[in-house]
Amino acid sequence: MKLKIAIQKSGRLHEDSMALLNQCGIRLRSGTGKLKAEADNFPVEVFFLRDDDIPQYVEDAVADVGIVGENVLYEKNKKVKVVQKLGFGKCRLSIAYPKDRPVQTLKDLNGKRIATSYPYVLGKFLKQQKIKAEIHEISGSVEIAPGIGLADAICDLVSSGSTLLTNGLKEGDVVLRSEAILVANPKLNAQKQEIVNKLVFRIKALQEAQCNKYILLNAPDAKLERICEILPGMKSPTILPLAKKGWSSVHSVVNENKFWDIIEQLKAEGAQGILVVPIEKMII
Ligand code: ATP
Ligand code: ZN
Repeated sequence: MKLKIAIQKSGRLHEDSMALLNQCGIRLRSGTGKLKAEADNFPVEVFFLRDDDIPQYVEDAVADVGIVGENVLYEKNKKVKVVQKLGFGKCRLSIAYPKDRPVQTLKDLNGKRIATSYPYVLGKFLKQQKIKAEIHEISGSVEIAPGIGLADAICDLVSSGSTLLTNGLKEGDVVLRSEAILVANPKLNAQKQEIVNKLVFRIKALQEAQCNKYILLNAPDAKLERICEILPGMKSPTILPLAKKGWSSVHSVVNENKFWDIIEQLKAEGAQGILVVPIEKMII
């Protein structure tokens, strides 16, 4: 039994989706066609599809799981289960207004036209905000719609905002924040669910590792107690004696968010030769 995974064939999510599978230890054999690839060392086969089609394929169980942006998932509104956020493909779906025109805020949109490729998500947002505007659906190059007189504002994906800028648009309200997620067919059989569980276990180990660092330092024995209080560690720090008498080496794991703060405290307590090493996988 193999788990069928759908990922984007090419585009913004392709590289990161491939890298994720690779870091999970899944080695893909490229098949005869470009449509799918099988793994030698894990019971999966990967299908390469347009991102827009992935929710439908997963709902129909043509694929068992898929990697897709939340923006696409919520727009398509298919019956699939969200399994895991993946931390890449981050962007936001925002309303943007042409500069130097009277329509500049949400309230100004009453009775106006908004061009978007996300009519469903935008429609829900406008309803919530009690704005009555006309949604004009277009499938691509939404950012040029105001310039050619097709709309008074747009609702599109933004990451850096440079596309908006070059088209004379200014970002307004954020409709949705999005990142890539793993979705699954809600009715997977027990065997397939077991493979999904294994995959998610590996993904979590990667995510855990990415937000932690392994740290090694030397400290005078007299300061060890204080230094151990500063270092959280997974259970508690490891302490090894150095060849030099009266000194020890201390090893621990530190979360990236607290990292600089902790380093400063350690230095202040007399820690020396502090080394910081990335962690590849972390199982807690
Ligand atoms: P396909 O050919 O598969 O339909 P596409 O052109 O629709 O590709 P891409 O532009 O490759 O899609 O974007 C895929 C996904 O990447 C988006 O749905 C979104 O989740 C994410 N993404 C991240 N940043 C951005 C951005 N700045 N603009 C557009 N999408 C982004
Ligand atoms: Zn697409």
